[in-house]
Amino acid sequence: MSLSQIAKTIKGSPTLFLNKKFAILKEKGNPVIHLGGGEPKSKVPMEAVTATIKHLNTREIRYAPVDGIPELKQAIINYTEEFYNRKVASANVMSSGGAKQAIMLALQAVVNPGEEVIFPVPYWVSYPEMVRLCGAVPIPAYPKNKSFYPQLKDIEDRISSLTKAVIINSPNNPSGAMYSEEFISDVVQFCEKKDLYLIMDDIYHRLIFDGKKRLNPYDYAKKLDDNSKLVIINGVSKQYAMTGFRIGWAIANNNLIEAMTNMQAHQTSGPSVLTQKGAVGALNGDQSCIESLRDTLENKRNLMMKMLNDLDGVKVTKPDGTFYCFADFSTFNKNSNKLSEHLIDKAQVLTVPGTGFGMDGYLRLSYCGTEQDITEGINRIRWALDPNSPAEIIIGDKKYTRDWV
Ligand code: PMP
Repeated sequence: MSLSQIAKTIKGSPTLFLNKKFAILKEKGNPVIHLGGGEPKSKVPMEAVTATIKHLNTREIRYAPVDGIPELKQAIINYTEEFYNRKVASANVMSSGGAKQAIMLALQAVVNPGEEVIFPVPYWVSYPEMVRLCGAVPIPAYPKNKSFYPQLKDIEDRISSLTKAVIINSPNNPSGAMYSEEFISDVVQFCEKKDLYLIMDDIYHRLIFDGKKRLNPYDYAKKLDDNSKLVIINGVSKQYAMTGFRIGWAIANNNLIEAMTNMQAHQTSGPSVLTQKGAVGALNGDQSCIESLRDTLENKRNLMMKMLNDLDGVKVTKPDGTFYCFADFSTFNKNSNKLSEHLIDKAQVLTVPGTGFGMDGYLRLSYCGTEQDITEGINRIRWALDPNSPAEIIIGDKKYTRDWV
């Protein structure tokens, strides 16, 4: 079979692959625990459900405007005013099939084949592949201070004459790190100075802990005119636990939004009118679900930190937000693919290897599941890896003995 050059360079999504593997094991009746999840388990807000059903009941489910139904665009405009302190026009807003599609469209609209896009390491698994889908070149920027908190120098050092855009995701998947105000301010001003597009993937911006203050990229921008190359990405997937609705959005200058809309028109048309209605319900409804999710996640983050800190040999940085942590397991195995396989095979715990995020030796562990899953999952990991832990464990209704070192 002859595939296109681009298709040949695209790897599957490791996280989606592992979800499939988990579903198969679970269906076979295995007592597997998912510590690799990428979605909150709270219920979708009732207003989202009601709004979707109300529209479904009209039995007139038609094409939606490509850039979003007017009510959704208005709700996004209101959101931008409330959370970014910025009044944007309808022409600056488009909704898309999840934040993922909004990022992809932004890249397709600005990056030429052969050009380069920089993002800090660790990075969300999809950035390199999205850049490759444009025929462009992903440039991971490794923080020189070896922390999860990049500095402008890390980005500066990766700039070339081919650099077209920078992607920043804070709080970050997979590390949970919320980048410093200094870094966000520096990177916004640096991109303005160098005339680079800056795509701020803010999908986790309200899921932050320890009373930390949300950072607003617009606060640091000096050139907020029609030529601004600052692009804000957000959506309902994580904060409202609405991953299955597939609604995200982009805020950018009107020419870019028009180009992205034209591309979306030919690729997918507008997102489903039903889930757009659902997103409007969530955005205009009772917002207490977000604080409640944030609070639950902070408690689960604390539980996971306690469990991991008790596991000798694991090094972990306390996440500032999201529902992930990215722990260094390299003392056990420098090859995180092998380690993750070992943990699913022996302990029936699913973890995500660090390779997909640009750092081998690490595992991404999620704390969006139940407290019981977190506790039992880490206990099983301890049993599988720590020779000082008891040799026997009960998993499901069977007793297992550790017979490896
Ligand atoms: N950006 C990041 C950093 C993410 O983690 C995800 C989801 N895993 C997305 C974007 C995509 O979000 P959505 O489900 O809205 O497409």
